[in-house]
Amino acid sequence: MMPRRSRTSAAFLPAVAFVFATVIFVVDAFVMIDIAVAVLYVTVVIMSITFCNRRGVLAVSAGCMALTVLAFAVQHWDEPVGNAMARCAVSLLAIAITTFLALGIQASTQAMRNQARLLDLSHDAIFVRDRNDVITFWNRGAESLYGWPAAEAIGAVSHALLRSQFPASKEKIAEQLLESGFWEGDIVHTRRDGSKVTVSSRWSLQRDRRGEPVATLETNTDIDDRKRAQESLAEAQAELAHLSRVSTMGELTASIAHEVNQPLAAIVTRGEASLRWLGIEGPPFDRVKRGLERMIADAQRASGVVRRLRALSSKEGLRMAPLDLNEAVEEAIPLMQREMGAHGVRLFLDLAEGLPAISGDRLLLQLVVVNLGLNAVQAMASVDGPRELTIRTQRDDESHIRVAVEDSGPGYDPSLEANLFNAFFTTKSDGMGMGLAISRSIVETHGGKIAASRKAAGGAVFQFSLPLNVEAQS
Ligand code: ADP
Repeated sequence: MMPRRSRTSAAFLPAVAFVFATVIFVVDAFVMIDIAVAVLYVTVVIMSITFCNRRGVLAVSAGCMALTVLAFAVQHWDEPVGNAMARCAVSLLAIAITTFLALGIQASTQAMRNQARLLDLSHDAIFVRDRNDVITFWNRGAESLYGWPAAEAIGAVSHALLRSQFPASKEKIAEQLLESGFWEGDIVHTRRDGSKVTVSSRWSLQRDRRGEPVATLETNTDIDDRKRAQESLAEAQAELAHLSRVSTMGELTASIAHEVNQPLAAIVTRGEASLRWLGIEGPPFDRVKRGLERMIADAQRASGVVRRLRALSSKEGLRMAPLDLNEAVEEAIPLMQREMGAHGVRLFLDLAEGLPAISGDRLLLQLVVVNLGLNAVQAMASVDGPRELTIRTQRDDESHIRVAVEDSGPGYDPSLEANLFNAFFTTKSDGMGMGLAISRSIVETHGGKIAASRKAAGGAVFQFSLPLNVEAQS
């Protein structure tokens, strides 16, 4: 990788080379010494590769040769062939060989510079630092991400300049880099204007031929944007989960209320009418009979409605398919992330490896996990100590898999245990008391069982166990 050259020293070099060439010519042409002074032109040729292109170097070389011959002509033209001519020939040969080598160096330098320029095309911030973390290369991406131009960044110690905050100790990272030649992780850097930026950083160690580390190439990608996008996605998903939960419960409640209310109201009306008929003298029994028959029909309608509602979450409404419970649990996590974040809840996943697939409805089982998870988060909202939510999967026995949702909340009063899963049972001012009821109905539809228990240390465990590959129950 090519360090950038300081512009000021590059501007002086042509002048220095010119002065050098003039001095060499004057000494060669007008001072009587018996050495091949013109050999020194090789320094001018070497200097020229830094500010001339290939043609320019050839021109400088030709110029130096011409000056060599001119100086020889000035001082020794009339002399017979001898030492002076030999010195002139040696000088010309030295200039020619140096020119040849210099052009080779220039070509490879140019190739390296082109490669370095390629790094400028990258939108990532790329820089190279030596063994002492001193920056030797700084691409355009780094200039625009951090705000320091290359001229200022080169020569600075990278971690001091960027005030790097590492995810692990610097020594550990260095150890890993030395061992594997590569390191990857998220770092927080500080820009020139003092603002912070989180980058996904990839380091590659460059070694010399003997295997000694010489430099580190660091590629940094700004992930704040990505993080923001992920956060708003999680927010949207959580919103959706919340909405679907509320709307499922809302719909269910509304349809129960609507569909059952109608026949119930009819039963009451007909009951009252029948009572009225019976109250008069010589009651019209046929009318009373008709009223009672209609009451029975209405009651049957009401129980039909209830049956249909149950069917909603039973066989007919289910989409059974082979299912990896761990995967289903992991997919449900983003739906709870926002609530967990808002209440500072830490999540621990303890998923058993090698669990066999079960047969189940992915969405409904995820709804159970989300219901239990959100209940746990809400229960911990008032807790002062650590708020920890643990979701475990484990083999229950030969034929069952268990999912447990554990929290470090206040738990519940033991007297409530019998009612927790009843529809409309809630202890929350804004609760509906449907979450656990729906969860139980979904689990039982899968042929499983759900239960709640209290932890000795405080907190509740809600767990359900599902049979392996058992047909859904109606
Ligand atoms: P709700 O929407 O009212 O919370 P649920 O059916 O989800 O309805 O829960 C019923 C009740 O069970 C809650 O009001 C609460 O009293 C209790 N409960 C549920 N989960 C927990 C938990 N993790 N810790 C303590 N109590 C809980």
